[in-house]
Amino acid sequence: SAQIIYGKSISDSIRQELLHEVETFKSKGITPGLVVILVGEDPASQVYVRNKAKACEQLGYYSEVVRVPAETTQDELLELIKKYNTQENINGILVQLPLPKHIEEKAIIDAISVEKDVDGFHPENVGNLMIGDDALLPCTPSGVIELLKRTGNHPAGKHAVVIGRSNIVGKPVAMLLLRENATVTICHSRTQNIEEMARQADILVVAVGIPKLVKKDWVKPGAVVIDVGVNRLPDGKLCGDVDYDDVLDVAGWVTPVPGGVGPMTITMLMANTLKSAKRAHE
Ligand code: NAD
Repeated sequence: SAQIIYGKSISDSIRQELLHEVETFKSKGITPGLVVILVGEDPASQVYVRNKAKACEQLGYYSEVVRVPAETTQDELLELIKKYNTQENINGILVQLPLPKHIEEKAIIDAISVEKDVDGFHPENVGNLMIGDDALLPCTPSGVIELLKRTGNHPAGKHAVVIGRSNIVGKPVAMLLLRENATVTICHSRTQNIEEMARQADILVVAVGIPKLVKKDWVKPGAVVIDVGVNRLPDGKLCGDVDYDDVLDVAGWVTPVPGGVGPMTITMLMANTLKSAKRAHE
């Protein structure tokens, strides 16, 4: 039976490491600062924003949560970002997505200063990731890499198959795996013989958004299966894109949902904010 990758406990130990680093940093009189901006009242977003603020508190960061109404105009939001771009006690700016339809997401992401783009979505950070230069890396994808490394599943030389090609998960996770010297295949909604592709993976990363898409016959015996999917079932329970119970006796390692990739995302956001604060004071 597969070994379970407990993201919660890995995330806790990273936070412990961050806490030590922050203490040293604070002894020099410097406190990392994060602002989270929430437009409107999407219930899921409200939970995410609350959890981000809680993580800041736990690590002793300075944090601001700015809640503005759904009717906020694009120009008003841009003004807000401009203000935080120059505010010295803020090292990270996160605009919670999705945004209301009348606001162009790209315009907002582009407006965030590259140095404070702790989500790693700004084109310059994306480009630096691609080139292999130092960059703020997107949180969920770098969380996936940490899960692999910290369970001894180093990607180098392995065949990694990523299912999903979104800008926030699939593509960046594929780039990071490549940077870690994996051989990378990217599959998506138009891929033919996808099961067969998946079955060739030593490391299978799934970020699709379809409950229990991946069954045991998609998985090579012993493979590491990382499930990024978070789906709400009709009964209210959460489940991943992988049929967890089904793959358990085939996979070598598997992440549960919840409790796998999920807890890593905010932790990597905290790591990015600290990184940005350090750079600002160098
Ligand atoms: P998305 O909808 O932007 O992208 C989904 C991708 O899956 C697309 O690239 C598409 O080509 C591919 N796809 C769609 N149907 C497919 C099929 N039948 N077979 C193969 N590929 C198919 O989604 P996203 O933003 O990348 O998120 C994916 C999942 O990860 C969602 O469940 C989301 O909730 C979850 N997610 C979790 C976290 C986290 O844990 N912190 C963060 C981000 C996203």
